[in-house]
Amino acid sequence: MKNVAIIGEIHSDGIDILNNNHCKVIDLSNASEEKLKEILKNIDAIVVRTANLNADILKECLSLKIVARHGVGYDNVDINFLNNNGIALAITGTANAVSVSEHVITMFLYLCKLINKSDLLVKKGNFIEKKSLPDFFEMFKKNILIIGFGRIGKALAKRCLGFDSKVYVYDPYINTSIIKENKCESIDLTEGLRIADFITVHMPLNKETKNMIGKDQFSLMKKTCIVVNAARGGIINEKDLVWALTNKEIFGAGLDVYEKEPPDSSNPLFGLDNIVLSPHNSALTLECRKRMSVESCENIVYYLNNKSKLNINNIVNGKNINLEV
Ligand code: NAD
Repeated sequence: MKNVAIIGEIHSDGIDILNNNHCKVIDLSNASEEKLKEILKNIDAIVVRTANLNADILKECLSLKIVARHGVGYDNVDINFLNNNGIALAITGTANAVSVSEHVITMFLYLCKLINKSDLLVKKGNFIEKKSLPDFFEMFKKNILIIGFGRIGKALAKRCLGFDSKVYVYDPYINTSIIKENKCESIDLTEGLRIADFITVHMPLNKETKNMIGKDQFSLMKKTCIVVNAARGGIINEKDLVWALTNKEIFGAGLDVYEKEPPDSSNPLFGLDNIVLSPHNSALTLECRKRMSVESCENIVYYLNNKSKLNINNIVNGKNINLEV
């Protein structure tokens, strides 16, 4: 029997997988840090949502073999500690892309069609005043710039191509043949920012990507451009985004993620009518929660009991821990 701790609520489909595969499930979702440290001593695996697993907590885990993130980002887990101690870090690499890319398309369409203003007009009894709305736009035959062409970037490209749009990609870390294979065109960042009608970012937040989109980049964009961030807060500088939206440097923006989460109620973005916001829930459709729960628990079961079934691409530090399958 293996001991598996769950930190954060996950769909019961994943719990069933653990229960049916010789695992004892211990729910630590509401445990204090002290309690966590005490119970984690005898834990073989952890499923974690957004809780912070820092070295201070991880060093108490004397039997830990794998941390399975319920999601793909892992900025809440101290990966250096895991690497140094031969502990695997798994992600749910196949679960999120569809949900996040649908969310981005939703924001694109909501913004370019001025859905918020149309909705308000009708609800205020001003149906016949429809001509008072400013110009709004289509996604048909537009230029869409995807920055970061990993799992989500690729899933999004497929959906954008369905609008007969031209999809440009900026991702200096992948081979341009991958971009071509996906029926997209590689482009230099500055040129991409200049010609795009829609821009969306899909890479991790790190020193290089923090504030990658700020005043200088907004100034290059078309006044009709729509910009979305459903990756990580801070890739787009929020203060500069307020500036761009207030001064109509761009047409609109959509955010699922923020520099500070939750954002303060005084955040100036809340007062703007050319932005649409969501509470970091682009990967939280019911279907996606089920997939993430199942995939994170399968990562644990296969890693502990049957490595031949393990999706090796889900183990982000396989090389660092000399994982052999
Ligand atoms: P991925 O690892 O599959 O792809 C990331 C891509 O970004 C890679 O192709 C990489 O080459 C590229 N990249 C890295 N640095 C870059 C740079 N400076 N310029 C351009 N490209 C760069 O990741 P993914 O699964 O597609 O996820 C992308 C992002 O979305 C991550 O930050 C992840 O945390 C976030 N995410 C958010 C949610 C949400 O709920 N909002 C859900 C899932 C993922």
